Amino acid sequence: MDRQQFRVLGHQLIDWIADYMEEGYDGPVAPDAAPGDLLAKLPEGPPQRAESGEAVFEDFKALILPGVTHWNDPRFFGYFPCNHSGPGILGDLLSAGLNVNAMSWATSPAATELEIRMIDWLGQMIGLSWPGCIQETASTGLICAALSARERAAHVNKDGFYGKAPLTAYTSEHANSAVIKAVWIAGFGDAYLRMVPAGADYAMDAGALARQIDQDLADGLRPCLVIPTVGTTSSTAVDPVGAIADVCEGRDIWIHVDAAMVGSAAILPEMRWLMDGVDRADSYSFNPHKWLFTNFDCSAYFCKEPMHLKRALSIMPEFLKTDHDGVAENFRDWSLQLGRRFRALKLWYVIRCYGVTGLQEKIRLHLRMARWLADQVKAHPALRLAVEPRLNTVCFHMGREDRTEALMRAVNQTGQAYLTHTKLDDRYVIRVSFGQTHSKMAHAEALWTLICKCVAGDLASPSSLGNAQSDA
Ligand code: PLP
Repeated sequence: MDRQQFRVLGHQLIDWIADYMEEGYDGPVAPDAAPGDLLAKLPEGPPQRAESGEAVFEDFKALILPGVTHWNDPRFFGYFPCNHSGPGILGDLLSAGLNVNAMSWATSPAATELEIRMIDWLGQMIGLSWPGCIQETASTGLICAALSARERAAHVNKDGFYGKAPLTAYTSEHANSAVIKAVWIAGFGDAYLRMVPAGADYAMDAGALARQIDQDLADGLRPCLVIPTVGTTSSTAVDPVGAIADVCEGRDIWIHVDAAMVGSAAILPEMRWLMDGVDRADSYSFNPHKWLFTNFDCSAYFCKEPMHLKRALSIMPEFLKTDHDGVAENFRDWSLQLGRRFRALKLWYVIRCYGVTGLQEKIRLHLRMARWLADQVKAHPALRLAVEPRLNTVCFHMGREDRTEALMRAVNQTGQAYLTHTKLDDRYVIRVSFGQTHSKMAHAEALWTLICKCVAGDLASPSSLGNAQSDA
């Protein structure tokens, strides 16, 4: 591909993405695909001769696009969002164009220094003055926190685990599965991970945590790490970080606060309560790639005392030594991997092109949409709200699991919306998660109309939903 071809194809792509963002996709928000559909259409081997970029783009539209789930479509309400934006895409494109490896300050000074400043800006936006870096995902941040805690408590990198009291970790029964993976990877072992029960609001019960830690100490174990969640994945419950810090006080227990999704809402003054108690933790992370309109992947990781993370992750082989070590920050020492992308560029674009107030407006709208939908659900005789939403996610059900599931399937089968589910108190509930960059109130209204039609059986087979009125 020569420069001229690159220019032409690049302009075409940007035009296509601009239309996609503005007009959305005109097919179903999630494909009606069966496993193997695309594989059956792809050549089994690579082409021996060069093909044109035009041909690849045509195949993208004909073959790939029909199998894509449109995560950034305003009709996508599943899981938590991973939202993009025009500025985020442009920043990412520049990053791809430069394609630097930001492993050390010296390998691209601007990449390191922009990352430092972006973490600083984000910290000011949420009221946290700790240093940090950009990790790929909240999962990576959780692994970093688990390794930091492990190193502070037991110097495992140097001495290994042998002969030491087993380290224990604690999280809520509603924590994301990424917490479990991080604790496994850090070598604590499932036998020493405590899933602390939650209260009626699905937030961790700090009293139960205190009792479990006392028991573990009495059994000769070494309580090491507590991971509260601010905004659990199922219902956006907020664990009481301050009360958890009281329990950990004076016990040398690392606290990592996982605010992957809802941390972005702390940029609103009225939502700053989400940060209550965080200053007493050791590390904190949230994902601008979920709710701050910055393309996947971009997770902000803050740590009060970075020396623990660096002790866990820094190695200095001869071939990486530079004149600036010890003076400038080398973010490979804060990261699991050696090579690092220039992620700060897209965040810089987003924060500058929206401004803090522009970002705040979008998040406020999403919170309003969730509140509005919850009020509609409450007023509907066939539906029950599972829990009062305080953030972007609304959980509701129809009573019996089969009916709730049938409702979700009926909505999804229309292709006009995409919903996912979870279980709360062993009850199957539908989750509606707001947060798309291009969402407007009209999208919440259209979703509600669709849900009502499906409940009434206008769009679904009435037998699958049963007598909706009687069972909620
Ligand atoms: N923690 C919470 C509370 C989450 O909701 C999620 C994902 O939704 C994660 C962690 C994992 O996030 P990531 O995909 O960035 O690793």
